[in-house]
Amino acid sequence: MTTNSKIQDWFGVEVAPGESTSLSIVISEGYSGTEVSIPIYVWRGQADGPTVAITAAVHGDEINGTGTIRHIIRERPFVLEAGTLILVPVVNMLGFERHSRYLPDRRDLNRSFPGTPDGSLASRMAHSFFNQIILHSQFCIDLHSAAIRRTNFPNIRADMTDARVADLARAFGSTVIINSKGHKGTMRATACKAGCPTIVLEAGEVWKVEPGVVEYSVWGITNCLIHLGMVAGEEMEPAFRIETKTTKWIRATQGGFLEFHVSPGDIIQADQALATNTDLMGDMQNVILAPRDGVVIGMTTLPSVAPGDPICHLAYPRKGELKKITKAVNKLDDDSLHVRLREDLSRNIRITDSDSFPMDHG
Ligand SMILES: [Zn+2]
Repeated sequence: MTTNSKIQDWFGVEVAPGESTSLSIVISEGYSGTEVSIPIYVWRGQADGPTVAITAAVHGDEINGTGTIRHIIRERPFVLEAGTLILVPVVNMLGFERHSRYLPDRRDLNRSFPGTPDGSLASRMAHSFFNQIILHSQFCIDLHSAAIRRTNFPNIRADMTDARVADLARAFGSTVIINSKGHKGTMRATACKAGCPTIVLEAGEVWKVEPGVVEYSVWGITNCLIHLGMVAGEEMEPAFRIETKTTKWIRATQGGFLEFHVSPGDIIQADQALATNTDLMGDMQNVILAPRDGVVIGMTTLPSVAPGDPICHLAYPRKGELKKITKAVNKLDDDSLHVRLREDLSRNIRITDSDSFPMDHG
């Protein structure tokens, strides 16, 4: 059976080699009783090859991936020579319509896979999407962003104990890979289990399409497609590579207003000041220090915190790795993607020098 007749069987349309088409698949029904469908874009290379799904907005408010997929559809940043791409700008259409992470039944679609045909709304939608898209795909790249009030420096989440998943994750070329199986019910964990190696990109904020994130995402997706033999060219190397299982959210010990001293993507040393917690007059209450050497992969964007609120998400490299990474980053040009992305993501976060505390207001 050729790829073409498969597409005909799956979606009821023919897509000739080298052609593309947009169509919609029915995923549920709304409160009005009308169908809820999601648009997908099927792009076929001239030659046979794997079918790769690229999905976004499984959490309906995480639309950096939506912007990335729209960019790929409209700008065609690469020539697809082989295989088939299934591009899904919005998986969770009911969440997307409400600018919400969740479904109207307050469930998380990304904890509902593989779902069942007679379960909850979330479970039925997950089942429908999983059967119509994931089970037809050989690989999947699922695009996410941080939850509200946070931003993520781009990192890949992947089960590195699965050789095919690890291969795809490394091909992406992310500086940081977090090795984890993923929560039960996530599309990633369920797809991997079903034989479709899937990785997640975590990048940027909700409710935004950030230019640096889109550029980075397209860069990584292109790398994956080159690696899979679907696009011609040479894979591009990241500034450095960290694979780690160990990450930690550093949390506020008391309520207050934060002065940040680091930005997303920064490489930090043990005992370095991450933020100073101040009262509303600016007087210092305490300084939040990094417990270990690490890379800032996530941060709150909201300076006012209560005790226990997350401040900084650190990925911990192996012992001694930090020196090598720092050296590599110091060598980067100011216009390199890595440096520009760091600047981009911290543009709306005020970063101050930790030496400016304690302040004396007499
Ligand atoms: Zn997400």
